[in-house]
Amino acid sequence: MIEVRGYAAHDDHSPLVPFTFQRREPGPHDVQIEILYAGICHSDVHQAHNDWSNSLYPMVPGHEIVGRVVKVGAEVKKLKAGDIAGVGCMVDSCRQCSACKEDLEQYCEQGAILTYNDKARSYKERPGSGQLTFGGYSEQIVVEERFVVKVPAGMDLKAVAPLLCAGITTWSPLRHWKVGSGQKVGVIGLGGLGHMGVKFAKALGAHVVMITTSPEKGKDAKRLGADEVLLSRDTDAMAAHALSFDFLLNTIPVGHDVNPYLALLKRDSTMVMVGVLTAIEPPVTGVSLIGGRKNLTGSGIGGMAETQEMIDFCAEHGIVSDIEMIPIQAVNQAYERVLKNDVKYRFVIDIASLRDAA
Ligand SMILES: [Zn+2]
Ligand SMILES: [Zn+2]
Repeated sequence: MIEVRGYAAHDDHSPLVPFTFQRREPGPHDVQIEILYAGICHSDVHQAHNDWSNSLYPMVPGHEIVGRVVKVGAEVKKLKAGDIAGVGCMVDSCRQCSACKEDLEQYCEQGAILTYNDKARSYKERPGSGQLTFGGYSEQIVVEERFVVKVPAGMDLKAVAPLLCAGITTWSPLRHWKVGSGQKVGVIGLGGLGHMGVKFAKALGAHVVMITTSPEKGKDAKRLGADEVLLSRDTDAMAAHALSFDFLLNTIPVGHDVNPYLALLKRDSTMVMVGVLTAIEPPVTGVSLIGGRKNLTGSGIGGMAETQEMIDFCAEHGIVSDIEMIPIQAVNQAYERVLKNDVKYRFVIDIASLRDAA
């Protein structure tokens, strides 16, 4: 076993503290990665605090991971020692179901194994079954090759980390619904997800409209590439944009009234929810969908092949996340700021700060 240092939550209210644990030695299909950077996703904070009532402790959060490969198993083909690798929200899946066979591991019918706050499950008969998974707020991780992406040379690695969750979560729906040039696309909400949605939709050639409550955020969205800003509390402006959007990417992370946004869609067009897991309230009225045969749907992260496609696209187009880097010792303060939405647009932990503290 490999002894690894990290930071863990031990219950739903105490700060994260230093924690030492063990990872498996790499097997024939495994990649051992020395972690360089780990992004802080809003869901890390939710899970550390047990907001979704499914938390397993001790918990080492982190599913936006970039690092250097230090060792690979004999059967590993796409990576070698010295390569830069990325790991996102999943580290395993059943490989047998229809979703897995179509490279949609995130929708595995047995349930994908999450990078942290999950247990390796028995169907896979692989080492460590039944053990808790531990995430990226740590020095090293060992992951099967299928769940590792290769990061092309020359990218700003600390700003690559958030692509592994915030990036793929917005990329996947934009690709699935074939967003591209000639389309008017709205990105609703400007946070970790929304800022990536703006960058991707723009790079894919769409006319991008930032839809936000905040004029300040609107300005920032333009800096990120938005062509227009629509203030959602301005009912006249909302009316002027009615029936004009080809696609809406809704990144708001809490329940909210979606009816005014559905009114913005053209007939037969789609709004996809990527941020909210809890109830969508107040209710969606039937007429919001029936009038204009509109589609309201959701999307979760992305498959591994699609994640590689996104990273390659980012390398080609010079796209990374806007980040603020912190030492791991500041993680608890960063969590407080995430809750206040006080970050542009992702905190990234410099894992060197963990090694140096030894
Ligand atoms: Zn995430
Ligand atoms: Zn599966």
